[in-house]
Amino acid sequence: MTALAPRLEATPAHRTTLGALEIRRALPLRERRLVGPWCFLDRYGPVTFGDDRPMELAPHPHIGIQTVSWLLDGEILHRDSLDNEVLLRTGGLNLMTSGAGITHSEDTPMRNSGRLSGVQLWIALPDAVRGIAPAFEHHAELPTVDTITVFLGALGEIASPATTFSPMVGAEIRIGRGESLPIPLRSDFEHAVFVLDGEATLDGEPIVADVLYYLGTSRDEMQLSSKDGARVLLLGGAPFGETIVMWWNFVARTDEEIAAAAGDWLNGRRFGRIRGDTAPPMAIPPLRRRVRPPVMS
Ligand code: MN
Repeated sequence: MTALAPRLEATPAHRTTLGALEIRRALPLRERRLVGPWCFLDRYGPVTFGDDRPMELAPHPHIGIQTVSWLLDGEILHRDSLDNEVLLRTGGLNLMTSGAGITHSEDTPMRNSGRLSGVQLWIALPDAVRGIAPAFEHHAELPTVDTITVFLGALGEIASPATTFSPMVGAEIRIGRGESLPIPLRSDFEHAVFVLDGEATLDGEPIVADVLYYLGTSRDEMQLSSKDGARVLLLGGAPFGETIVMWWNFVARTDEEIAAAAGDWLNGRRFGRIRGDTAPPMAIPPLRRRVRPPVMS
């Protein structure tokens, strides 16, 4: 009945693990696969640790996406098959464009703060560019105005220098104790918010950590408030308008493309290797029934 009322759909993140690291996966969810081009959101930490290393993501492939590593605390060492080796710290952005194919690893470095907290995000590449050559970029600092940092795309007048291939926003918004912030939104974007820590209200409605709040389109502003302070992730973009097929670390358009990528990974083709890595390719989960694996050579 209230078609014009703003939407606020709350969907709890799914709890899982990635090696030793506990993950709250807020995208994709059965109820929601995409927010603009954003197709994956894992929240991990905060954790404190000693001699163990909570993040140990062995070399693995990607196609069809950009991977986004954004930290709230701690460090991640990124390596890839283009010979990049970059230490990510809080406030910086690691952005990898997988395009046609790349291999990377992400690990807690040997020398570390003993703390880890952050998000891993994927952005689906539009069909016209998803087969481009892979690339990696690191930004040590991102534009910050007041308490808003935009790491991808733009929010109002704040624009990230990072490479994007469709209109979007990815921002961290810090709300101080007792503060209320009007946040400008593009009404042609769909948006979602995800509380990273603290508790807040969105247009007066309470929002809590580890829940994806989908806002739909047609909003030109939201009001974020907090009694005790909060950090909130804002994701948005033009509705993607393409149906993606997502399986393991691959995003494509057809099952055949997924099967071909899986075969290439297992056969040491296409994705390249990280210098010094001599381990056999990371095992892949069984292909879905509809996906016929290619003949292994
Ligand atoms: Mn990855």
